[in-house]
Amino acid sequence: MNPIVIIGGGLAGYTVARELRKLDKAVPLILLMADDGAFYSKPMLSNGLAQKKTASSLILSGAQQMAGQLQADIRPYTWVRAIDSAAHRLELDGPEGSTSLEYSKLVLALGADTIHLPLSGDGAGAVLSVNDRVDYGVFREALEGKKKLALLGGGLIGCEFANDLTGAGFDVTVFDLAPQPLGRLLPPGAGRFMAESLGALGIQWRFGQSASRVEREGEHLRLTTGDGQAETFDLVLSAVGLRPRIALAQAAGIEANRGIVTDRNLRTSARDIHALGDCAEVAGLLLPFVLPLMACARALAATLAGTDTAVSYPAMPVVVKTPACPAVVCPPPMGAAGAWQEAVTATGVRALFRDGEGKLLGFALLGDAVAEKQALAAQLPAWL
Ligand SMILES: Cc1cc2nc3c(=O)[nH]c(=O)nc-3n(C[C@H](O)[C@H](O)[C@H](O)COP(=O)(O)OP(=O)(O)OC[C@H]3O[C@@H](n4cnc5c(N)ncnc54)[C@H](O)[C@@H]3O)c2cc1C
Repeated sequence: MNPIVIIGGGLAGYTVARELRKLDKAVPLILLMADDGAFYSKPMLSNGLAQKKTASSLILSGAQQMAGQLQADIRPYTWVRAIDSAAHRLELDGPEGSTSLEYSKLVLALGADTIHLPLSGDGAGAVLSVNDRVDYGVFREALEGKKKLALLGGGLIGCEFANDLTGAGFDVTVFDLAPQPLGRLLPPGAGRFMAESLGALGIQWRFGQSASRVEREGEHLRLTTGDGQAETFDLVLSAVGLRPRIALAQAAGIEANRGIVTDRNLRTSARDIHALGDCAEVAGLLLPFVLPLMACARALAATLAGTDTAVSYPAMPVVVKTPACPAVVCPPPMGAAGAWQEAVTATGVRALFRDGEGKLLGFALLGDAVAEKQALAAQLPAWL
């Protein structure tokens, strides 16, 4: 019998393997990943400095340990080059050169790539981004002896890095085209509160500005914004977003939109191929967070073990890891009709998004208002 093969050794790949082993201890299971296969918690990348984490100390279990725990064949440094969905076969480049592998069922847990701003200048290649443990190691080394940092992007991950870096003693300036931090998630009063709370730590904001050029200036980087203003920094970190990895699936003729398209049973358009995690667009929803991928992993494991199971999403609030301004966001569904009502006090913000009939569809809680997270989440309709 051909094995079940999972491509990806991130939280999605490993969680579906773990959930599957709870239901089926015997089915042959292979995990392939381009990286070293170490299991770690990716969310810690943006608050690792405060916890004094290095790239190695982030590791919870190495690939070999994971193989033992999961009773699986785990193959690090193995790049899947192509999928032949008709023949149920993969083409691989790994430590043993180019090989092929047949599967009975295939799971795509490929993650997402960092988006790079189209920057000109000879320093553009020196702009760093952190999307995995290797990036984090490079970033930590690059920080040695540096002080003045530019951060491109004031979204969720940008704000987390800004808070973490400032706490570790760096001077941080954040550039974002939006007029406030977390522009896509927070209404204006909450955005101001977040900007002021992080500003009190010393973070400088450059709202309405985006970098267009980065040039080397000796050891430093000179950053020029779209409106022609220039400033010199020791290091530039970009956190402008992620894009689901869809190329491998698309090349195999598997339907992809913003992510690899699946139904609620995590089935792609190709027979016996499923997808979950940051690469997947599940029933029209692209939710690159841990809780949704865990819900998907549980449902998919049941399906792989023989009981076809659809995923359900309750409303899933996201905790923003900015200790200087505790925040929880649960955005309304994309395009939902309604309006925000904000109650801003000196110590927090309670922002509720309601439809025309007064039904709660989303919220954003900052400061002391985060205590209401559970109570409000319980009032929200399920997402799926
Ligand atoms: C800095 C940061 C902070 C975050 N903080 C939070 C948070 O606080 N809360 C939250 O809910 N979410 C957070 N997230 C999002 C969360 O971490 C992700 O949703 C989750 O880790 C995605 O897991 P994944 O397994 O889908 O992808 P990944 O972890 O990216 O794993 C993808 C895997 O696929 C492999 N791969 C890809 N293509 C191939 C190929 N062709 N061949 C072989 N292997 C391949 C890679 O090597 C890798 O092993 C954060 C993300 C980042 C970057």
